[in-house]
Amino acid sequence: MLFSELGLIEPVLQAVEAEGYTTPSPIQAGAIPAALEGRDVLGIAQTGTGKTAAFALPSIHRLFAGALPKPGARRPIRALVIAPTRELAMQIRDSFIAYGRKTPLRVIAVVGGISQEIQTRALRNGVDALIATPGRLVDLMRQRLIDLSAVEMLTLDEADRMFDMGFAPDLKFITAALPAKRQNMLFSATMPGPIVELSRSLLKDPVRVEIKPEKTPMQIIEQSVLIVPREAKNATLTAYFRINEPERAIVFTRTKHGADRVATVLSRSGIPSGAIHGDKRQNARIKALFDFKNGRTRVLVATDIAARGIDVDGISHVINFDMPGDPETYVHRVGRTGRAGNSGKAVSLCQPEERRLVGAIERLSGRKIPVDRIDPALLAELPINLPPQNEEDFESFDDRAPAEGFRGGPRGDFDGPPSGGPGFGNRGRRPAGKGGPVKYGSRSGPARFGGGPGRPSGPGGPPRGRGGKGGPRKPARGGPR
Ligand code: AMP
Repeated sequence: MLFSELGLIEPVLQAVEAEGYTTPSPIQAGAIPAALEGRDVLGIAQTGTGKTAAFALPSIHRLFAGALPKPGARRPIRALVIAPTRELAMQIRDSFIAYGRKTPLRVIAVVGGISQEIQTRALRNGVDALIATPGRLVDLMRQRLIDLSAVEMLTLDEADRMFDMGFAPDLKFITAALPAKRQNMLFSATMPGPIVELSRSLLKDPVRVEIKPEKTPMQIIEQSVLIVPREAKNATLTAYFRINEPERAIVFTRTKHGADRVATVLSRSGIPSGAIHGDKRQNARIKALFDFKNGRTRVLVATDIAARGIDVDGISHVINFDMPGDPETYVHRVGRTGRAGNSGKAVSLCQPEERRLVGAIERLSGRKIPVDRIDPALLAELPINLPPQNEEDFESFDDRAPAEGFRGGPRGDFDGPPSGGPGFGNRGRRPAGKGGPVKYGSRSGPARFGGGPGRPSGPGGPPRGRGGKGGPRKPARGGPR
């Protein structure tokens, strides 16, 4: 099937051609003809399937298939798209701009973290399509700064994530304020009970298009776990990067401050990195994402929430600096690599007391994951850098340490830290010069983690106590390549 056979208006077809798309993806082939007829659509598809175009193309078509808006005429919001995160909303906005470039489309994203004033000014000038996160949209609605009385098309993207993030009441509030006569499109990667209910209440006689993931990432991705005490993680991560030189990596941390700290540690070790999390100003988030996409940085350090909706191709490595809170999050994180049939690597730095989490992940992913243990004798050689952790560092409740066992997973998979552990107490930092090569013992024989040029981690310094503040220190002279 060709795009030209779908019945889209010429300006939209031209934009699709300019994007370099030749054939519609299965979700597009299934959803677009139905959407063009004005039917409701239920799309069960993940990011990477082309789902954005599946709703954006027919929306733009329907906005401009009739008479074009007269210059100076009032432009009411006719298409409303709701997405769980700022990043996803901005990406959808960018897609609308790209697909609507041959039309007079006006589109804005209304998201938190950006001055409300700028957004309301744009709204006053009139927009055809509005892409919003639920929180900010509800804020504007409550302040009566937004008029949704002319909405003809509503799209909910990543509905399951919106529910996960607790946006169900906001969605109810928003949909109740919309005109009853409208087209609804609902996209979700999974269909848990609440989303089935939502689709029943929202959609009228929908066309259902389901795209089953071809291969679960778990089957393509080379996964491994490194047992590393918390205080040795920075040094281990830096050493890993020096030796393996990942082309493009996402590093996941549990906390916002952790993300900043890890990005700084890597950058100071000569590995250009950016961080992205909920405390960063929108501009900083956009810049970090932009630098990562265009290769200025090779590493993006992110919390789970901030990473949602980020769609960057060619991720070669996913590194769990902190273990995820549950196996589903692990699968979600790891699925950032191994896209489009490419292989990928996932490495998890697992603290000795978290060892049992690995079993739960193995059960969910249906695969045995090789576990390497850092050689305790060599641990003393690592320059130790203990990341402190405060309560307010956590992005959300879900990001908390998985100390009570996996949510939803079989209880007892992780029943608290084992007593003692292999005896990795807190150690003072060694003088930097002691760094040397770092060696890891492994079940399959000792694996040497030969030192690349420079020391395996940042500089040394005086011994540091547990919980000490102050992230990474000054760059090691001669460390970075
Ligand atoms: P999405 O699932 O909407 O996030 O899209 C994933 C990626 O596929 C984006 O980079 C799109 O630009 C791209 N894409 C969408 N539709 C097509 C298509 N028909 N042909 C080729 N690439 C596409």
